[in-house]
This record gives sequence, C-alpha cells and structure tokens, in this order.
Amino acid sequence: MAQSGGFSSVGFVGVGNMGWPMAACLVKAGFNVLVNDSRREVANNFVQQVGGAAPDSLRQLAEASDVVITMLPTSTIVQRVLAEGDDNIFAGMKPGAIIIEMSSGVPSVTQRLAEQVAALGGALIDAPVSGGVPRAKTGELAIMAGGDAATIDKAVPVLSAMGSSVLRTGAVGSGQAMKALNNLVSTGGFLIGIEALLIGQRFGLDPGVMTDVLNAATGMNNSTQKKFRQFVLSRKFNAGFTMGLLAKDLSIALQVGRETGTAAPLSALVNEMIVSAQSRFGPDADHTEMAKLCELLAGSELEAD
Ligand code: NAD
Repeated sequence: MAQSGGFSSVGFVGVGNMGWPMAACLVKAGFNVLVNDSRREVANNFVQQVGGAAPDSLRQLAEASDVVITMLPTSTIVQRVLAEGDDNIFAGMKPGAIIIEMSSGVPSVTQRLAEQVAALGGALIDAPVSGGVPRAKTGELAIMAGGDAATIDKAVPVLSAMGSSVLRTGAVGSGQAMKALNNLVSTGGFLIGIEALLIGQRFGLDPGVMTDVLNAATGMNNSTQKKFRQFVLSRKFNAGFTMGLLAKDLSIALQVGRETGTAAPLSALVNEMIVSAQSRFGPDADHTEMAKLCELLAGSELEAD
C-alpha cells in the first residue's frame, strides 16, 4: 500500500523509455501499479522484472485505479487511449478518479480532454517532465503541473515518487506549453554549442577541451554538461530521446507561438534545423544526432582527443 496521499492503485499507460522507469519508481514507493502498453510483451516484462500487474484491457485498468497516468508519444495517442475505440480508459474510469497526463502533448488537446474528464466526474491535470531517462530512473524528474490546485495537491504524493520537484505552472495545459518551450531553449543551446565546437575545431581547439572550458565558464548549458562528451564526442548518440519526439515538442512550441501571436524568428530557425535533421536521419534517430546535421553543414566531423 502507498504510504501517503490516500491513493493505493495507480494505472500507468505507456511503459516506454520514460514510462518504465517512472512506473518502477511508483512500485518502489509502495503503490499498487497497473501497467498497459500497446506492446503487450513490454507490459508483461515490466510485471515480471519490476512488479505490479498488467490488466487485459484499458477499461479493466481504469476500473482498478484511483489515478491513471498517461506517458505516451503524442496527444493523438493519448486521446485514443482515453476516449476512442472499443477499449478505453473512460469506459472504466472511477468517479473521482484523477488522470495525470504526463506526455509532452498539445495544450489545446489536453484542455479539451480535461473538459471531457470533468463531465465524467473525474479530473485531469497535465504534468509533463524534464530530465530524460537518467532522472526518470532515479525519480528526480522536474515535473511541470498544470490544472486545478486542489487536484494537483491530491496528486503530489504520486508525482513526488517520480520527481524531485513539482513546479506549478497554472491552468491545465500550461505544463505542456512550458515543457515545449523548455525543449525549444534546450535545443537552441545544443545547436549553438555544437556550432561553436565546429568553429573551434577548425581554429585548432580540441572539442573535448572546449566542452570542459564551456562547463567551467559562462557558456555552459545542459547540453554542454550532459550531452556533448557523453553522446556526441563519444559518437554513442544514445541519450534515449528520439528526434521524432523532439521535433514534435518544437512544433508544439511554435504552435503556441503562433496562437499567441508572438514573433519568434530564432525559434523558427531552431525548428527548421530539427525538421531537416529528422528528414536526414529519421524520427527514430537519437535527438543528439542533430549534431551530425551541423557537421554536414560545416563539412567536418567533431573529434575529441
Ligand atoms: P517511447 O516511445 O519510448 O514510449 C512510449 C510507449 O507508449 C511505448 O512503450 C509504446 O509502445 C507505448 N504506446 C504507444 N501507443 C500506445 C497505445 N495506443 N496504448 C498503449 N501504449 C502505447 O517514448 P518516451 O521516450 O518514453 O516518451 C514518452 C513521452 O514522454 C513523450 O511524449 C515524450 O515526448 C516525453 N518525454 C520523453 C523524454 C525522453 O527523454 N525520452 C523526456 C521527457 C519527456
């Protein structure tokens, strides 16, 4: 049984790169976790290797859950899982249940889903995350929570099992807007850093040394600290977050920009770089492979001593 919060059973839909370690944190915290994934074998493996149960249908999962978490690739899929087809979460949702939509989704779609959940007697908040697979594993994600304050209060014990901070961003959908804008900033930092390494290498600087200097100086950012040596200079390109998901996040950020009438020329450039990287390397490439597009444009490859 869970230690706190009054919830014992948490349904978790989408045990992929992020969902698996997040759901594992919930098991560790003492929640009764019910998992679902369209790749049935992955849900079964989770139960075998971590614990919990894998009900046969989404309806059954919802019937047995006080809280249902969605951690899925896109809002279109979230909508399908919650509301569409022969089998869905709404078909079994308990009165008073809380849906926590943790995917990086489209705010306007999530707002519509929240209205539908409210009409069925439940409540939906959005709580997308930042920190990637490493922080999902340690339960130290940064969680951006949007929605009714009392509902977020109730969800905090569940969220705290997966994250080290729950940052309240405002009304439902605001967490996802914030998440997309965060990834826009993060991608811009990555691209300008790689461009600097390419310039420096041509000048005669070593990209590894440059990374160390940036990290000791004011040019540091999350990519210089946690991605350049680990995934780019090592040529491993295996950070665990795909180009397709990043491209989706940037398109959401630009959509929010358009909807709010905000001129965003730099954002548009960053987005075009990712669209180009995706068409060159494919949606399943690791997002750190966007460095290879910069290399192609520069006509040289980064090599660290
Ligand atoms: P993923 O593709 O590894 O996992 C998604 C899971 O959902 C898969 O296991 C897939 O089989 C399952 N799924 C797909 N359709 C389904 C359906 N209809 N019903 C049930 N399960 C279904 O993706 P991920 O990297 O874990 O990302 C999940 C979400 O988290 C995305 O919105 C992503 O943008 C966001 N995110 C990812 C990272 C990261 O570093 N990977 C970081 C922050 C946020």
